[in-house]
Parts: sequence; structure tokens; C-alpha cells
Amino acid sequence: MKYAVLADAYDRMEHTSKRLELTEILSNLFRITPVGLLARVVYLTQGKLYPDFYGIEIGIADKLAMKAILETSLLSSKEIREEYQRSGDLGSAAFRALQVKAQYPLFSKELTVNRVYETLDGMAKTSGAGAIASKLRRMKSLFGDAEPNEAKYLVRTITGKLRLGIADYTVLNALSQTYLRDTTFRKRLEVAYNLSSDLGLVARVVAEHGLEGLSKFRAKVGTPLRPMLAERLASATDALDKIGGAVAAEYKLDGERLQIHIQPGRLTIFSRRLEKITNQFPDVAKVCRSRVRSKKAILEGEAVAVDRRTGKLLPFQELMHRRRKYGVNEAVERYPTCVFLFDILYLEGRNLMTLPYLQRRKTLQAEVRENQQLKLVDQIVSSSPAEIEDFLDRAISAGSEGLVIKDLRGSYRAGAREFLWIKLKKDYRDDLSDTLDLVVVGAIHGGGRRAGWYGSFLLAVYDQEKDTFRSICKVGTGFSDAQLSSLHESLEDIRIARKHPRVESRMQVDVWFEPKVVLEVTGSEITLSPIHTSNLNSIRKGMGFALRFPKFAGKQRHDKRPEDATTTLEISGLYLSQLKRIKS
Ligand code: ATP
Repeated sequence: MKYAVLADAYDRMEHTSKRLELTEILSNLFRITPVGLLARVVYLTQGKLYPDFYGIEIGIADKLAMKAILETSLLSSKEIREEYQRSGDLGSAAFRALQVKAQYPLFSKELTVNRVYETLDGMAKTSGAGAIASKLRRMKSLFGDAEPNEAKYLVRTITGKLRLGIADYTVLNALSQTYLRDTTFRKRLEVAYNLSSDLGLVARVVAEHGLEGLSKFRAKVGTPLRPMLAERLASATDALDKIGGAVAAEYKLDGERLQIHIQPGRLTIFSRRLEKITNQFPDVAKVCRSRVRSKKAILEGEAVAVDRRTGKLLPFQELMHRRRKYGVNEAVERYPTCVFLFDILYLEGRNLMTLPYLQRRKTLQAEVRENQQLKLVDQIVSSSPAEIEDFLDRAISAGSEGLVIKDLRGSYRAGAREFLWIKLKKDYRDDLSDTLDLVVVGAIHGGGRRAGWYGSFLLAVYDQEKDTFRSICKVGTGFSDAQLSSLHESLEDIRIARKHPRVESRMQVDVWFEPKVVLEVTGSEITLSPIHTSNLNSIRKGMGFALRFPKFAGKQRHDKRPEDATTTLEISGLYLSQLKRIKS
């Protein structure tokens, strides 16, 4: 398959902002892709070479890519740099530059998807002495054979700026459109994805074996599962009513979620967003090896920083010191953690996800020899609202955020946010002082003391159905100077020239961003709004929802992908529970 076919499809994707059209173009692309290439096409279209959890990135600096362009083109460096400055896009500079090439066309070989993929893969895996020269040589070889339009997308892919707006959900929708036709099968695709976290694999299997292939997906040690999530309710009574009968109540610890995969000779820890973070937690790896009986298991727990002297739990921020590449041993020493395990999904060849919660908890108990660094999360089983409320108070005074109420019969549903798990926090009862996790999609320049920085940010919720981000508020308060500066840095690299195709907003801003950065925000209530597009038309025509008095709550959620942000569905739940509170 020629790379030009891909570049052509990318071009069409770039020129539409309609989700349905985008899905249609993608689906047509899948239809003409040979099955053996499908996985590669899926990864490339999302600007990757592998699923995220492999941790392999192409990661070429703009400067090096520019050098390769300059050395391939016959155009003057001044002209190329001018084009770059004008458009702010290296891809456009490459498009212009490679219209006039040094390469003698007689020797040029057409670019194929395989050749592009393998060259990029080689580049991603090259390191050490001579790596730069080798990467430069490979880029020049590709650019030498690329048509301008191919060069444009090649450069964007290589520098990590493809940004076609093709999220996981869009790929799943397109796959379902291509291979299964019936939308009810969409769910089955999602289950396979939740179990494998690998869209390329799901694509290949569905193309080759259809539904039957999908039903063979299972949890596998070493491959992260998309985490099960919790719904929220306002009180223990609500949670008991919802589930019916006795429930388990567990402390909801405020740390970092870990998915721990143990197998002989290897232990891997994945974050909530399924990145490999084993290196940040050598202490956890060590204690799991010595205190978990089985040699093959998948466990889940929350790592929390603890005070070495008193054993008290410390706030989430303390754990952030572990987010570093160098000096990890020193951080381990200075910021000790305890992991509180709350689930077990796999044990010695047996998938435990379909077992009811209580049985999984019992297995976990039998598997783990607890000590100061590795414990089971505090839990009670009860059907009494008073007892659960009491346990909630205890959880809070022990430094937890609240409770997670769990259905005793509930299986582990990877990637699902349902009422099998319900989070309960103290503040749910009063007003909407519970935090929302919102995505930064735009910003307005600051004035006065904030000149040179952003003064406020346009934030959005995630619309799961449409796979878009809908604006819900503008936030400008709650930031310290240090936070504003660090946020500025995070956003620098994801500025885009116009509103992102996945963002739905009626607001005007000075700067747009790729929806990537997630902030934790508090607010007083959800109100109807003619300006914002969250849940547009759901209550009244032309009206969306806005978050009133939004305030940054101090945390940038590095552990969340934009698709893990608060959803429109959650917002409508919050709005309804707010109404109920007002009426009662
Ligand atoms: P939040 O923003 O409140 O942390 P979240 O969106 O990360 O929530 P939710 O599904 O809403 O995720 O809440 C579950 C989260 O709570 C888990 O991702 C996990 O990190 C954390 N957690 C802490 N204690 C527990 C527990 N006992 N059982 C399950 N999850 C727990």
C-alpha cells in the first residue's frame, strides 16, 4: 500500500471538522487497507507506532527534522524558514521545501506504508552514539522519495504533531462501520479494546475473524487493562438504594492508581493511563515480589505517600516527586509509599474478572502477606447507612478522600464507569464542591501581573458519544504563580492555529490547544447556559451547562488522558442530583 493513500486520507481528514465525515473517511481508509497492514495504519493515523503502553515514541526534535528538510530541498534555507515562521508548522514547511528536491527523480522509489513504518520504527529504537546521524540519514532517505503532500504528514508524524483528531473512540466507530456494520457490535469492539488496550490488534482481529475473534480477547499478564471506574452518588443511603442489600465500603485513597502485573522474572507497573511506570516505583516492585505469594498475577491498588515516622498518609502532591526520570532512588528514599491493594484480576492462569467482588477480595487476602508497605485497603461490609457514614468519617480523618462503595456481586468491568463502584465523598452532600476533571481547550492572554502568561482558560468536558470536548467554563482563579508557569509550559507544545476538530465551543479565545491537559476544578453548581456547549439541547433548546464559580483545585491530572476527564453524562447526573437536593 502506498503511503500516498494514507497522506491523501489525512488531507481529507484535516479538512473536515465534522465527526461523522471524519469517521467515514477513516472507515473508507480501513476498507482499502490490506488486513496485514491494518494495525500499522491504525497506529500511524494516531501518530504512533505502537499502543501507548509499549512506551516507544518516534520523538524527533523539530530542529533535527528541519535539518533533514533543508538538506533534502534545493530551496534556500531562508525561504524554508520563512514558510515555517509564517505557518508555525514544520509540515507545511516540508510541503513547500520538497517541491524542489536535490534528489535525482530517476532513482527515487515510491514510499510504501511499510517502508515508512519500518524506517520510523528504526529511528524510534536507535539510541546512543551515532543515533542523531543515523536518524538524519533515515529521514533524508524518506524525504528524498516523498511527494510534497507525503512529506507534510511524514514530518508531522515524526515530530509528534500529526494531530488529526482521531481518538480511540473514533477508531472504534470507524472499525464498527467497516467490518460489523451493526452498531450493537460496537460494544464488543470496546470490550476487546478494554481488555487489550491495543487498537491495532483489535482492528486486525476484527478484520480477520469478525465477532468470533473479538470474543477471544482475555486479560493477559503484561498487557494493561483499561481501568474500571466509579460513578458518584451523594450519600450512603443513595448508594445502598442503588445497589440493594449489603455493600462493601472501602477507603478511597488519594494517591496514584497502579496496575501491577507480576510474572516470573518480570514485574510491570502501569499507571491509570496505562503508561509503564515501573521505574518510578522500584520499592513497590520489590515489596510485591516478596509479599505476593503467586508468581503470576494482576493486582490493582493505590500508591500513597506516607510519613515515615508516623505512618500517616500524605497528600497526593507528595507522590508527584516520583514523576522523574533521574534521581528516582533519592525520591524513593525521601518519599516512601504504601500501596493499598483493592483488586485482583488474574491469578496463575485464571481470569478473575468475572468473579464477584467478594470472591476477588478473599483471593486477594489469601495472596498477600501484608506489611508496612503493602496492605489491603481498609474495608467493611455493611447494609447500614449510619455505619457507612461513620466509616466515611473515619476514612476522611485517616487522610482518604472518601469511600468507594462496591457491589458485592459485581464483576470487574474493564474501562467501564458504572454503579458497581460508587464514590462517596464528604462534600457531595453540601454543594458541588466535588472536583471535576476538565480539559484545557483554549486560553485568554493575561494582563497586569499575569502579562506574558495566560489569564484564564477555557475548559471542557468529554462527550463520550460524540468523542468531542464541549466547553463548560472559563477558569482564572485558584492558580499560584508557580502553577501558572508550569501550566504555561505544558501548553506551549500543544498550541494550535485554530479550534481543534474535536472541540465544540461557541466561545472566542486568544489561543487554542489540542485537548490534552486535564485540570482538577471545583465549582459551586451546574447551571443552564446559552454560551457553553456541554450537554447542549439536553434540557432546553439552545442551552448547555456551565460550571458556576469555577476554581482551579491545585492539581494538574497528569494521570488522566483527556478521554478520562469528567463526561457530559456525569455532568447531567450532577445536575439532576443538584435538583433533587434543592427539592428535598
Ligand atoms: P478521582 O478523580 O475522584 O480520583 P477518577 O476519575 O480517577 O476519580 P474514579 O473512577 O472516579 O476515578 O474513582 C476511582 C479512583 O479512585 C480510581 O481510579 C483509584 O485511583 C482511586 N481509588 C482509591 N481508592 C480506591 C478503592 N478502594 N477502590 C477503587 N478505586 C480507588
